[in-house]
Amino acid sequence: MTSAPARRLVLLGSTGSIGTQALDVLHRFPGIARVHGLAVGGSRPELVAEQVLAHRPEHLVVSDVARADEVEAAVQRACRTSGLTAPRIAAGQDAVIDVAGSLGEGDVVLNAITGSVGLLPTLAVLASGARLALANKESLVVGGHLVTEAATPGQILPVDSEHTAIAQALAGVRHDQIDHLVVTASGGPFRGRSREQLAGVTPEQALNHPTWSMGRVITTNSATLVNKALEVIEACFQFDLPEDRVQVVVHPQSIVHSMVTLVDGATIAQASPPDMRHAIGWALAHPEKLPGLATALDFSTAQSWTFEPVDEDTFDAIALARAAHREGGGAMAVYNAANEEAVDAFFAGRLDFLGITALIRAVLEHPERPRAAHADGVAGLLAVESWARETGQALISSRER
Ligand code: NDP
Ligand code: MG
Repeated sequence: MTSAPARRLVLLGSTGSIGTQALDVLHRFPGIARVHGLAVGGSRPELVAEQVLAHRPEHLVVSDVARADEVEAAVQRACRTSGLTAPRIAAGQDAVIDVAGSLGEGDVVLNAITGSVGLLPTLAVLASGARLALANKESLVVGGHLVTEAATPGQILPVDSEHTAIAQALAGVRHDQIDHLVVTASGGPFRGRSREQLAGVTPEQALNHPTWSMGRVITTNSATLVNKALEVIEACFQFDLPEDRVQVVVHPQSIVHSMVTLVDGATIAQASPPDMRHAIGWALAHPEKLPGLATALDFSTAQSWTFEPVDEDTFDAIALARAAHREGGGAMAVYNAANEEAVDAFFAGRLDFLGITALIRAVLEHPERPRAAHADGVAGLLAVESWARETGQALISSRER
């Protein structure tokens, strides 16, 4: 009989798109780590119960207090039926932060929560000394300086296909040998459309991504190219480069996940069929490689990969994010918060598709926008964020009248 691995894992956001794929990777490669804790929002009680039975965590956290009883009842029922002891269950956002920080060196936490609510758990992981496998790109977008300062070298391993690709391409490359990064973008479901053609886009159409199956917010962000914009900022912080050294190129096949151009003129690319389990397994097992983790490319049949410049006039999300990164000091937190409010309003039928980036621009350009200095720390960022959410809401309401 093989003994359980010594390395422990906490998975934040286990019921989401990344979370369920991560548990699939762990099921196939149980030697990576044993599941110590799971954290969820609380909207999928039966799935949580299934995950508890399959992975036997010691701790379970439900962030939404109003949904905790229902999740606990489903978990207790499932454990009773199977004759298992239920995990310890806690509720609330503080409990998510506690479980995020509960491990230490040699352990790993995968942060797969959606939204800037992932920032405080990210900081808790970094303080604990555990490895942070980071899918929650919003942590780096909102709190990039704080997050990178809190991390030891190599502590953050990105779980975003572009950034895991760049990290792989950079193996053996010194920082001063990098000329620039080339982040690939599928172009989303509306590639090639004009602004007029985007005006009537519905949430259903926005959710129909051509190559990736993901959660609702990131899928909408892929349609507006806000996701690519967030990824430019994520790359700046993850790889310590200014935004003008992070280029975006449209690559509709989503096979080349990103590239690095070196000072000597060579470009190094990472390629594999689109499958997030590759990025997840890479980050969890690094520096080991998991045999058969994902299907490899098959060159026995003809294929072509194409690359084209991104249409930044039609999709203004990227230019707005570049400006926010150049400004620094809370502008990126404003960008992200305005987008999160806009996406909710789009799904509620209160904002049209083009209104999403228009709202980000309006909140960023608001004459009363507060600035957060570096010294203001997390509290300063959170204050700027809540201003951006309230201002975004007020602008949405005023447009409805
Ligand atoms: P989903 O919306 O599918 O999943 C989000 C998960 O977080 C769910 O388990 C949800 O629980 C849980 N959750 C929500 N709020 C909280 C909270 N406050 N505390 C703890 N858990 C919470 O998102 P994705 O998996 O698509 O994305 C997760 C992150 O990964 C995002 O930042 C995204 O940008 C990034 N990412 C995703 C990719 C993908 O392919 N999906 C690719 C690259 C990056 P519940 O189910 O109860 O709501
Ligand atoms: Mg990505």
